[in-house]
Amino acid sequence: MPEQPTSNWSLLTRLIHEGERAQPPDGRPTATPIYTTATYLYESAEALDAAFASGEGYVYSRYGNPTVSALERVMAVAESGVGAVAFASGMAALHAAILAAGTPRGSTHPRIRGILAARDLYGATTNLLNEFFAAQGIPVIGCDMCDLAAVDAAIAEHKPDVLLAEQISNPLLKVVDVAALAQRSKAAGARLVVDSTMTTPIVQRPLTLGADVVVHSATKYLGGHADTSGGIVVARASLVRDTLRRYSKLLGGVLGPFEAQLILRGIKTLALRMRQQCANAAAVATWLAARPEIARVYYPGLPSHPQHNLAAEAFGGLFGAMVSFDLRDDDRTTLFRFIDSLQLILPATSLGDIYSLVTAPLISSHRDLTAEERAERGIGDGMIRLSVGIEDANDIIADLCAALGAIQANA
Ligand SMILES: *Cc1c(COP(=O)(O)O)cnc(C)c1O
Repeated sequence: MPEQPTSNWSLLTRLIHEGERAQPPDGRPTATPIYTTATYLYESAEALDAAFASGEGYVYSRYGNPTVSALERVMAVAESGVGAVAFASGMAALHAAILAAGTPRGSTHPRIRGILAARDLYGATTNLLNEFFAAQGIPVIGCDMCDLAAVDAAIAEHKPDVLLAEQISNPLLKVVDVAALAQRSKAAGARLVVDSTMTTPIVQRPLTLGADVVVHSATKYLGGHADTSGGIVVARASLVRDTLRRYSKLLGGVLGPFEAQLILRGIKTLALRMRQQCANAAAVATWLAARPEIARVYYPGLPSHPQHNLAAEAFGGLFGAMVSFDLRDDDRTTLFRFIDSLQLILPATSLGDIYSLVTAPLISSHRDLTAEERAERGIGDGMIRLSVGIEDANDIIADLCAALGAIQANA
């Protein structure tokens, strides 16, 4: 490594080099610093060569960064995985996760034979499957993952090698049996990818139930503060080293150190936030279910929910922090009036933040479908999806109450 800056260099040169590359301090930082460096230096060319050869050690930012590694480490532990790879967004993470899941054992090249996907995935995920994977000739088969007989039939008929599901669907909040899917996936020689964004490891850890790969949009609960985008994939050993890391280096959608630090910080309060948000959601759902202006509430914690028993067993007493509901008057005017009447709950297109947020599938996730297609999926035009935040539950309920009052007053 070059010598430390010397005083016989001109000021022009010293402005570039002075102060840099000091040895790490004796007092180690308590929290991981944000390492804003694109490259890393070694004592000798030989040491650099060894770092390249081993794949360990940092050489270049697209290959790895210590701040990002700290996040990957905590998420690997959180999900009981062997390793994790962070990406710039949830979508970049999903792309790499699907490619890795569709890489035959012993190979480092993706060769997907078929993808069996839940029918009600996050909208962009469905578009990714159709516009990238199906468009390249890879069969993408849609299936109701809550219907295990349908899953069995689809596996027998299409022989997919990748299964993709979310534990809680969007916006109907249907719950899938991850253990049952993992068993079927394994028996078929396929790999199960679970997008765990809505549940987080606080509610369920799919790898412990036999799933092969877990994906998160860290933009949601992991970050949790509506201030950053990111994605993360957690998997078993061979997938991380041979495929995920390799693909992230080549596709290049890596997470930056600033974002990694925000998410790392978010994760420290994940359990506290999640428990509070789940408790608030339970209070809100129970309150909504008793209101005459609401036709139906979708929330796995209510006994009326079709997979309530499964959720009670599989989620360890928490039911997630999302609540969807149908306004009894399901016209666009009432829907808009309701949203515009809210004072506390924000009409922002995301979920999992400390802030309570609402969206309407009609104008967001499902806007490109016809009314018939929406109806076929059970998504009414008066549906609201609420991501419950960490505010006082009484204030959230009061806000909903006032907005319901406003639509009645105008009816
Ligand atoms: C938001 C989201 C994604 C996509 O994540 P981005 O960070 O927006 O790229 C994927 N899956 C689910 C379930 C999501 O909610």
